[in-house]
Amino acid sequence: MAERKDFCIECRKETEYILQKKAVVRNIRNKDYTFEITVAICTICGEEMSVPGIIDKNIQEFDEQYRKTEGLVSVDDIEKLMKIYRIGKTPLSLTLGFGEVTITRYLDGQIPSKEYSDVIKSALTSPVYMKQKLYENREKLTDAAYNKALEAANSLESLFSVSEKMLRVISYLFDKLEEVTPLMLQKLLYFIQGIYSALYGKAIFIDECRAWLHGPVYPEVYDLFKDFKYNPIDDARFALFEGNDDALTDDEKRVIDLVINTYGIYGGKTLEKVTHKELPWIESRKGYGDGVPSSVLIPKERMMKYYAEVNKRYGISTEEGLLTYIHDTLA
Ligand SMILES: [Zn+2]
Repeated sequence: MAERKDFCIECRKETEYILQKKAVVRNIRNKDYTFEITVAICTICGEEMSVPGIIDKNIQEFDEQYRKTEGLVSVDDIEKLMKIYRIGKTPLSLTLGFGEVTITRYLDGQIPSKEYSDVIKSALTSPVYMKQKLYENREKLTDAAYNKALEAANSLESLFSVSEKMLRVISYLFDKLEEVTPLMLQKLLYFIQGIYSALYGKAIFIDECRAWLHGPVYPEVYDLFKDFKYNPIDDARFALFEGNDDALTDDEKRVIDLVINTYGIYGGKTLEKVTHKELPWIESRKGYGDGVPSSVLIPKERMMKYYAEVNKRYGISTEEGLLTYIHDTLA
């Protein structure tokens, strides 16, 4: 670490300092908030020092933590919103039913009300909602701005033709796994569907799975990530994945965690070996001879039935049972 030195007013000389986190309580609109801010501490006398950049950093920390506690959108969120719907700040303000300069003020750092923040959040996570707002405030916008934003919303809507539940599951996977390749993601979704349906007697998401040459695939998810160029996190449109955490039930999260902690430790190619030995993929492609269509349906019932059998033999509601099953399948 680079040596940090500055003038300490207690010691009356240049001293070394270290950066530490400190909890401070601030009262905002009659409510106490605890913030974790960064302070510089003199290594000689132990007093706080005022060093360059620390005040700006603290302002940023207060702002970020306040917004997080209150569930308010950030400046970054608003910039993403403008980017994904290809709309400027004034037309965006009018589209959302705000005053003409409201978005401009937010971009300058003013903190939005909870009500307005929720409107922004809805637009950011739902092209359908954005379109509804565009229709509502059509007459306030120029033809050019309206058409451009509507076109962007339409193309996002068709891109995000996967179910709401599927988006939440993918978002949860991205949160929990450091790195997910498109091949791996497809397999994990298939395992999640199979295991959830075997344990709870119903599908977790309605999306249909297909038996492609390289294993089970959800084509809409495939298209989505083809367009994201395998780099969803850096893509402003990734905001569309971030919905409400409560959208997943405890049972659903339990199954996803189970899959993450077992199948999730293998790479995409190894997981392909597993699915190639499993009946749902094999049976779906059987009976076509050499002319297997590139995309055959794997019925949900077939997956449920298969994993119900596996459950009887291995007990797949535990990590131990699942890992043994995977191990035996790869052997
Ligand atoms: Zn000192």
